Amino acid sequence: MTQVEVWNADETLLHRVTVRHAIAMIWRGVATPVSVHDTERFGPYQVPLAVRLVRYVEQRWLYSRTRATYSREGVLLRDRGRCAYCGRFTATTMDHVQPRSRGGATSWANAVAACEPCNARKGDRTPEEAGMPLRWRPYVPTRVELHFARQAGLDTAICGAAAGATSRTGVTTSVTTTVTTAVTTAGKEPDR
Ligand SMILES: [Zn+2]
Repeated sequence: MTQVEVWNADETLLHRVTVRHAIAMIWRGVATPVSVHDTERFGPYQVPLAVRLVRYVEQRWLYSRTRATYSREGVLLRDRGRCAYCGRFTATTMDHVQPRSRGGATSWANAVAACEPCNARKGDRTPEEAGMPLRWRPYVPTRVELHFARQAGLDTAICGAAAGATSRTGVTTSVTTTVTTAVTTAGKEPDR
């Protein structure tokens, strides 16, 4: 089926939807047609080629403090593949700061990225017992932070390349992606 372009109110292309979806948006007053097909009609409407959202879709939540769901992958992303003990960007494992066998929680605050040698050396000991102080304090990252880390790619971080430049690209990409999700899944504007 023909796809219709959906433009944000600020003239940025968000994504494409089906003609049926676009008509529904026009019918609900969410979008207005920008250009239409000369001859084809869909019910009382001329088939749109492009529509524009009436209201600008803000992505404020993206920059909000939405907490990320805890995961092993997330810990490695948060720490950018850097070992919390030796500081090298060779972490491939996750370590529980306070060992689980000793009542340590499975949580962001008790998990750090660690390289295999450090993880093995530390074993079932606390950082103090092992004489391996943490280089930073583990914290709960935001979803955005992990998203950007994922966009940048662990490889980039490991190589120590210009991660800043990469994550800038990530900003643009993620905004577009999020807008798409918000519009297609909910079919209405996100909460304000
Ligand atoms: Zn290490």
